[in-house]
Amino acid sequence: MDSHTKYVFITGGVVSSLGKGITTSSVGALLRARGYRVTAIKIDPYINVDAGTMRPYEHGEVFVTDDGAETDLDIGTYERFLDVDLARGNNVTTGQVYQAVIQKERQGAYLSQTVQVIPHVTDEIKSRIYDVGEVSQAEIVLVEVGGTVGDIESLPFLEAIRQMRFEVGRERSLYLHVTLLPYLGTSEEYKTKPTQHSVATLRGVGIQPDGLVVRSKSPVPEEARRKIALFTNVESDAVFSAYDADHVYAVPEMLEQQGLPRLLERHLGLERVTPELRVWHEAVRVLRQPDERVSIGVVGKYVAMPDAYLSLMEALKHAGIANRAQVDIDWVSAEGVADGDLDQLVAFDGILVPGGFGVRGIEGKVFAARFARERRVPYLGICLGMQVAVIEFARTVAGLDAANSTEFDPYTPHPVVDLMPEQLEVDGMGGTMRLGSWPMSVRAGTRLAEVYAPRFEAHGATPDVAGTVRERHRHRYEVNPAYVEALQAAGLVVSGMTPGMSGRGAGLVEAIELADHPYFVAVQSHPEFTSRLMRPSPPFTGFIRAAVAFRRARATAVPT
Ligand code: GLN
Repeated sequence: MDSHTKYVFITGGVVSSLGKGITTSSVGALLRARGYRVTAIKIDPYINVDAGTMRPYEHGEVFVTDDGAETDLDIGTYERFLDVDLARGNNVTTGQVYQAVIQKERQGAYLSQTVQVIPHVTDEIKSRIYDVGEVSQAEIVLVEVGGTVGDIESLPFLEAIRQMRFEVGRERSLYLHVTLLPYLGTSEEYKTKPTQHSVATLRGVGIQPDGLVVRSKSPVPEEARRKIALFTNVESDAVFSAYDADHVYAVPEMLEQQGLPRLLERHLGLERVTPELRVWHEAVRVLRQPDERVSIGVVGKYVAMPDAYLSLMEALKHAGIANRAQVDIDWVSAEGVADGDLDQLVAFDGILVPGGFGVRGIEGKVFAARFARERRVPYLGICLGMQVAVIEFARTVAGLDAANSTEFDPYTPHPVVDLMPEQLEVDGMGGTMRLGSWPMSVRAGTRLAEVYAPRFEAHGATPDVAGTVRERHRHRYEVNPAYVEALQAAGLVVSGMTPGMSGRGAGLVEAIELADHPYFVAVQSHPEFTSRLMRPSPPFTGFIRAAVAFRRARATAVPT
């Protein structure tokens, strides 16, 4: 255990979905703006080992890290706010903890002992938290405990973080509790009782918070703040008001203005430094006063649950900011888009088909790709969105009738998208896809080469390769190498390939585009996972730039 690492523990009370992830991320952003090395851990008290097997419909997006972990979406928010790359260890679940403890027990590591929640499970939790601090070399580790204080399943985690203060000392640990301050319209007042109760419950497990972040509709009135302080034993200048913001990226500023960093500095003995918050100010400014506006149709499956596409929405937002444009996202249910149904799609300045699994709505997505190709509407295909673009091109342009992915039609005469040999042997479900960061060689002279140019890690090994980039993946199927020649002969541009001549995955299609189209770009990876406010994702930035141009051209077009 490094004797300098400091820990900030974030718990939540009253109700779930309070925006603890945003609070944790904002605290991280304020520390990063002061030059600290910061990392963040999300604790999920569920028994799933990871989020990979959970339905996006209920839990929101499955986020993927560089090292191929399938995590809770909060990990993505941390990465975006802290501008750091996190890893598998940053998302701790009950499932992982028990799996490790039981494995150790079977191996005889606890020989002769009775294996119990305290100390064995709590020790496992603590060692995971300490490990992240050590591996990441962070000066400050943020630890967000998922769920709500009072839940049975989060008790071992609360006990572990309680013990940690005992081990690292008061000046190296800080407890921040996020609660809700409901407003009662009938009596026209904020009610502090739920917060009082929630802090009392936290105290019941031995944790007295050092600071409170109170969620409410509008800024907490001074009187309510004093009352909360008095009844929760938290100093009144350590009670912060996180009122509803117009943009998530405005939350760090909101907490900065109220002096939250002062609490961290005081309590953790940090030096007082002036923060560098320019990117945040600039982002919020553009979000509030954009020069342009584009409307993007996202044709997907989980359109009733935008959290299922959280990183995608943020990547579009980042790309919008880079183009000084507001991006309005219109969710189009793929199932509702029938072949030839133009009405659903004509209004958009760009069409995006995101990642997805399963056959539902697939023909609607294929049609969306065709519509964008034929009408020259900017198109961005992500993962499944690239696969449907290939299917559409194969069917309509390359003359491969009934071409499909074997995911949707195992008996298709033209399996242009298929399982690769290594996937045929897989029979388990968790963590078995092509996951994590993989390199891609970008072909010179393509649109993709143009947008990725500032990001190239390595330059082209051959003249037709412009450079190499890395993006994260999460998929099982690939464009079938047996069809690449035929598709290229029909005019499909393969703009990205896995590099190298040997090894796993060599020679797979990573990206495609159309030559005679303003912007028809599709990638097998998920570039939205690495998009940051300060470094928007190139395929997204290019897409929004094209959408802005498309909208302008349409506005000035003379009606015929
Ligand atoms: N279902 C497709 C596959 O497994 C696409 C996955 C995705 O879009 N993430 O390859």
